[in-house]
Amino acid sequence: MPPVKHRKVVMLGYPSVGKSSLALQFVKGDFPKEYEPTIENTWSKTFVLGNDEFELDVVDTAGQDEYSLLPQAFIFGIHGYIVVYSVACARSFHIASVLYRVLVDKRGKCLMPIVLVGNKTDLPEHNREVKSEEGKKLADSWGAAFMEVSAKDPEKSKQIFTKIIEEIDRVERSFSDE
Ligand code: GDP
Repeated sequence: MPPVKHRKVVMLGYPSVGKSSLALQFVKGDFPKEYEPTIENTWSKTFVLGNDEFELDVVDTAGQDEYSLLPQAFIFGIHGYIVVYSVACARSFHIASVLYRVLVDKRGKCLMPIVLVGNKTDLPEHNREVKSEEGKKLADSWGAAFMEVSAKDPEKSKQIFTKIIEEIDRVERSFSDE
């Protein structure tokens, strides 16, 4: 087998949108019952995707709002971003756009693999404040991948992390082809 590929991604988004729940579903395969606001945690998991073995570090942040300045540690040495909002919170969707602009400012537009994630799709439909089409449209405008998920669904949650690995590969390949 080829050498293990190391990748580091950061989870960004408004507080309480489900960043930790998604990360824990991926790392531990469980939906956490107790809500503990995260200060900052990095989780690591090794897994096989296609013919490659990856070691993925996931930096789970405390959450941001429109005044958050992303620290350098979230910019340098980071391969990709998982930007999360809750489909039941329009404000968190707005913050996702704000975060994208901060990222572009700090990192530049190229080589920015992103998966935009609308979480909490299990909530009743009357709670929904952000339509699927709006999420898809925003992700398209970034040239990013888009997924709607529920952190209660282990399979869907895991797909986010395989998606970001694929996006990192896709963006890096398109960059080296230029
Ligand atoms: P974070 O601050 O973005 O890391 O959010 P957490 O993962 O700590 O979740 C905040 C709250 O939302 C907790 O009470 C979670 O149980 C709940 N939560 C997270 N994801 C989901 C989801 O997909 N569906 C529902 N119904 N609740 C969720």
